[in-house]
Amino acid sequence: MVIVRTIKQMQEAKKGLFGSIGFVPTMGALHQGHLSLIQQARKENDHLVVSIFVNPTQFLEGEDLNAYPRKDEADIKICELTGVDILFMPTVDAMYEADELCIGAPAIRGYVLEGEKRPGHFDGMLQVVMKLLNLSGANRAYFGKKDAQQLALITQMVKNYFMDVTIVPCEIVRDEQGLALSSRNVYLKDDEKERALSLSRALKHATKMVMAGERDVASIKAQMLEVLSEADKVEYVAIVDRAFKALETVEIGNTIILVAAWVGKPRLIDNLWV
Ligand code: AMP
Repeated sequence: MVIVRTIKQMQEAKKGLFGSIGFVPTMGALHQGHLSLIQQARKENDHLVVSIFVNPTQFLEGEDLNAYPRKDEADIKICELTGVDILFMPTVDAMYEADELCIGAPAIRGYVLEGEKRPGHFDGMLQVVMKLLNLSGANRAYFGKKDAQQLALITQMVKNYFMDVTIVPCEIVRDEQGLALSSRNVYLKDDEKERALSLSRALKHATKMVMAGERDVASIKAQMLEVLSEADKVEYVAIVDRAFKALETVEIGNTIILVAAWVGKPRLIDNLWV
């Protein structure tokens, strides 16, 4: 494995790769969720590129940019052990210059749910993903369904900008109790961890209702909110189609149920595709 930190080094390292390139972009503090993407990319490609970059442009004023968990040494070991060929760990200065050209999230799909609660987040996310996809030379890039709206917007960017890369959606990895893994889970204290389970419980409850034949979005959301009463603050419960348009009736095979809530320090998100 080579670790590269500059754009030039990344471009040079890529020249030595013949065959397909799989790419997994991350912000580090790697956990089993990241690992499942890395392992899938390893299996499906000749070469594997992983990036670790805590991208400042996708954090809003007052968010946890400076406190974002970092564990570079452990991350490097994990990448070595999982067969990563190139680990790209750039500095902020290497990635950005002042007065940059920017990509904007689409006016509707980019400004509902996460985009509404975190205005500007998706602009910064798309900007860095565009750079990383170009640099990595990826044939396939792997993203978690955990960040469902992010995944949808990246897929749209690739389509709208005619980019020659396949976006591969990957399943959400959870702990044994059902909590979706996230680098930010380290902020949860013991009693908060229990209450954080209310997100996945609410989603499980919604699945049960759908399996029992309920299709009415308002009824499902009302019951989900009851389960979510253990969270400190619910930001949204939403039931949308795969293009992120709000639904009144669940459409089997075309629906995503999403929740965002604060429990203690972290803001948690989770979702379920039905
Ligand atoms: P992050 O480091 O949080 O930016 O995440 C990097 C990638 O890992 C993104 O594509 C995430 O959607 C994905 N990811 C994060 N947590 C999980 C999880 N629990 N299961 C599956 N993918 C995940």
